[in-house]
Amino acid sequence: MRTRLSILTWPEPKGGPHRAICHYCDTVHVADPIAEGSRANCVLCGATLFQNRPASLVRVTSFSLTALLLMIVVHTAPFVDMDAAGLRTELTLPGAARALIDEGTPLVGLGVALFTIITPLILAGGLVYVCAPLIFGRLAPGAMFVTRWMSRSEPWNMIEVFLLGVLVSLLKLGKVADLHFGIGFWAFAGLMVCMAAAVAAIDKRELWDRLEVAKGQ
Ligand SMILES: [Zn+2]
Repeated sequence: MRTRLSILTWPEPKGGPHRAICHYCDTVHVADPIAEGSRANCVLCGATLFQNRPASLVRVTSFSLTALLLMIVVHTAPFVDMDAAGLRTELTLPGAARALIDEGTPLVGLGVALFTIITPLILAGGLVYVCAPLIFGRLAPGAMFVTRWMSRSEPWNMIEVFLLGVLVSLLKLGKVADLHFGIGFWAFAGLMVCMAAAVAAIDKRELWDRLEVAKGQ
């Protein structure tokens, strides 16, 4: 079997030996490069220190690009189609946020806009901006700054929470109105999967190491 030596591990920044600290028991380890598809575990408690995920940069870029394309569909196509007592209403995601702001619950509306529209956009856009040039070993201008902001925005990406909330309320609404899921809803479900896959495709340690190496070139 031919071994793809060139992509077995990611380049490490100069100035080693590199160390990794276990987040659970604070044990310090010497972090040697590991083969693609494997993980380094803590010798004391067995927790994962870092992973070398297969084809990480290509996967992050493709899942984030797909997420960005799906966002266009989510924001333009109807989310749900509602038929109640002969009245037909179509709702889009930005329309729902705007309606909440106009109807007297501006905080909830702003929250929906921030956590389901703005944060996923920062995260997916940032991942494409940083990771696509890294495939060719290049550093995008301000990539370090963007990566720091992506890490900060990651916990605020709440599209799964929103989808669950929508499903629960639609199940209840279904008793009084005739409901149909629109293309926007299915695109949103796809967006949730793509965002999770994009974030999970690369280890943070790998991303920072690659950024440092590209910066040094
Ligand atoms: Zn440990």
